[in-house]
Amino acid sequence: MSILANDLERQAMSGGQAVAAPAPPALTHRERELGAIIDAYNAVTEQLKQSHEKLGGEVVRLREELAGKNRQLQRRERLAALGELAAGMAHEIRNPLAGIRLFACLLERDLHDRPAQAQVVRKIIKGVSTLEALVTDILEFGRPRAPVPGIVVLDHLVREAIELARGRDETKQVEVRVSPDPVDIKLVTDGVLLQRALLNLLINAFDAARNGSVAPHVCVQVTTANSQEVVLTVSDNGPGIPGDLLDRIFNPFFTTKDTGTGLGLAIVHQIAESLGGSVQAANRPEGGAMFSLRLPKDGRGGSAEY
Ligand code: ADP
Repeated sequence: MSILANDLERQAMSGGQAVAAPAPPALTHRERELGAIIDAYNAVTEQLKQSHEKLGGEVVRLREELAGKNRQLQRRERLAALGELAAGMAHEIRNPLAGIRLFACLLERDLHDRPAQAQVVRKIIKGVSTLEALVTDILEFGRPRAPVPGIVVLDHLVREAIELARGRDETKQVEVRVSPDPVDIKLVTDGVLLQRALLNLLINAFDAARNGSVAPHVCVQVTTANSQEVVLTVSDNGPGIPGDLLDRIFNPFFTTKDTGTGLGLAIVHQIAESLGGSVQAANRPEGGAMFSLRLPKDGRGGSAEY
């Protein structure tokens, strides 16, 4: 019988007056126990489902991380082989180059009374200097040295690097802003390697910074992202990096410059990794490129191997 029919029957029996419905029969002890077991079962099932979803997500994340690490490892192996080959060649070129420089210098001295010929010899010497710089870059890239950590005062290091970059082309009047000024940060790292990396970023920024109607402008910003990391950012007001080149510019020998070697950023990448950090390139929304060099403050995470 339905509940409605029951109610009507009770109303009829009570002369049309409604009577209270009887309370549902109390649950037996067994039924209560069964209910508790079902509740517990449902809770455990829900927990298992959540754990399974979490584990699934973690597996996907770990797989991606592993694929990333494998790509990094393959890149390192390829670069190490390429670097070793290039360094071998550079080593062979270095001695004959030194000989050419020596003889050209002697010739220039002998030609002191023939200025036109002496001028030609000076051009040869200049060409040799360019080749020597290239050989040094290749050797540095192919046979990098292990970092030697020490306490580094960033303010000195940044200012020296700016002066060195400026010294390469004094005709271009680049305005450089350092922030904060002074950079009141010390860290434990290899100062020589860090300065080399920063110098390469600055040389590129000076090259790229606008000339002509817009004054060339470079900014070096130092921030402590957290208590363990320091980030050095070098930005310029140049044309920026074309989007399709962003993931190629760190490859060795990749260059878009007529006289470029394509080793500057490859060396920066190598140094960043050897110091336990990383480097990233991006374009600023307001125009120009921006390179961020992220390093551990305490020098940990650096490696002797590349
Ligand atoms: P190189 O300077 O000899 O070309 P790098 O490895 O230093 O070698 O740079 C590789 C390429 O990355 C450059 O040729 C240029 O195309 C690009 N690049 C680097 N820095 C900048 C920058 N600040 N702005 C725009 N492009 C840049």
